[in-house]
Amino acid sequence: MIDPKRKAAEQILLTLEQTGYEAYLVGGCVRDQLLHRQPQDYDIATNAHPTNVQQLFARTIPTGIKHGTVTVIIQGIPIEVTTFRIESDYQDHRHPNQVEFVSSLKEDLARRDFTINAMALDLRGKLYDYHGGLQDLRQKRIRTVGNPKDRFTEDPLRMIRAARFLSQLQFSLTKEARESICQLKEKCIHLSVERVIAELEKIWLSPATSQGIALLSTCDLFSYLPPFAKWKRRTISENELKKLDPIQDRILSWAYFLYLCIGKTEKLSNYLSQLRLSSQDKKQITACYQLACYQPIPTTETDGKKWLLKYGIENSLRAIQLRGLIETEPTQQKIDHFSKWWNEMPVKQLSDLAVNGRDLIQAIQRPGGAWVKQKLNDLLEQVALGILPNHKEQLLKEGCKIETTNHS
Ligand code: ATP
Ligand code: MG
Repeated sequence: MIDPKRKAAEQILLTLEQTGYEAYLVGGCVRDQLLHRQPQDYDIATNAHPTNVQQLFARTIPTGIKHGTVTVIIQGIPIEVTTFRIESDYQDHRHPNQVEFVSSLKEDLARRDFTINAMALDLRGKLYDYHGGLQDLRQKRIRTVGNPKDRFTEDPLRMIRAARFLSQLQFSLTKEARESICQLKEKCIHLSVERVIAELEKIWLSPATSQGIALLSTCDLFSYLPPFAKWKRRTISENELKKLDPIQDRILSWAYFLYLCIGKTEKLSNYLSQLRLSSQDKKQITACYQLACYQPIPTTETDGKKWLLKYGIENSLRAIQLRGLIETEPTQQKIDHFSKWWNEMPVKQLSDLAVNGRDLIQAIQRPGGAWVKQKLNDLLEQVALGILPNHKEQLLKEGCKIETTNHS
């Protein structure tokens, strides 16, 4: 089945061409298509100016109008359409200060970071490859368009992108590019945390995470990379790095990577807050790290089920995996046990219980207070462990009974 995103992109190419403009698929989607990988998104480059693009399509969003980018929405699918441009003057080391629209595809492709990302494809499938991108794809090589020193100086994020492509594609980096990165690492100090983290996120989900992180480590980029530059970090061994490769869960990747950087520390939240992740991410990373570092993992069924009730299955399984990574111990058996225990438990949270706080208050005839939550949790535990059935009458009877014993 044809990818709906691709269909939308082709429709935009057609409309632009029929209006008399040039339009091409460019960048990552061309690279991925040639590698027989599913493109994440389709980017289009055109000689039509942003205002022309806006006039031509019914639904558009001026996403980055200053940089020539308009998002065109075709049947609900957003596709970025960018006017041919060159960038100049990277004074703030983050965004080009000025972009200049140009008339040719060739000039537009020359501003791109790596040869494999600097190819274009037209509607008829003709490939435009002015920098030997196809040959580099075949030879599995990451090479900058032009002189690596200039290109990394222009935008130091390209050094981190190089690491990202090493991890994603399992390619090698040219010697010149590697040497330039080691030489120019200090320029990374001005990068924004958000851009760095966005690249790391892609590295976590790559098959060869260790390759990219190894580049950043061996060239000592972390000493200049916000926010890591300010941290007192351990050196990460090759063995430890390798363990990042099979992880496909970004929360676990973050938790393990943080552990590798800073070890066991009470100050995790200080570090974590510098990464500008969502509060949900921070909560999950913290749970995984704290449980793995500071709590013995239960071995008996009763203790295991109590743990699961307290922390939930997701945090528990992640903690077991992180502990396994840290201690280099097998985890499959523990994961199987905890998963089985979780599935066996007839109730997993208070809302699964056949009674609620109101029922209890009514039955016991005592004003609400902290005792309600406590009692509900006691009942939850007993039902989860199979000591009590999840029946309303019986739970209320039991609730009253515990109440009288507590008060006698
Ligand atoms: P992905 O598959 O993750 O989207 P991508 O190669 O498409 O990877 P994007 O960040 O989406 O990466 O960028 C799209 C294209 O824009 C790149 O392929 C490249 O041609 C160009 N590009 C992106 N960032 C830079 C940069 N910092 N310097 C030069 N060119 C860049
Ligand atoms: Mg892309």
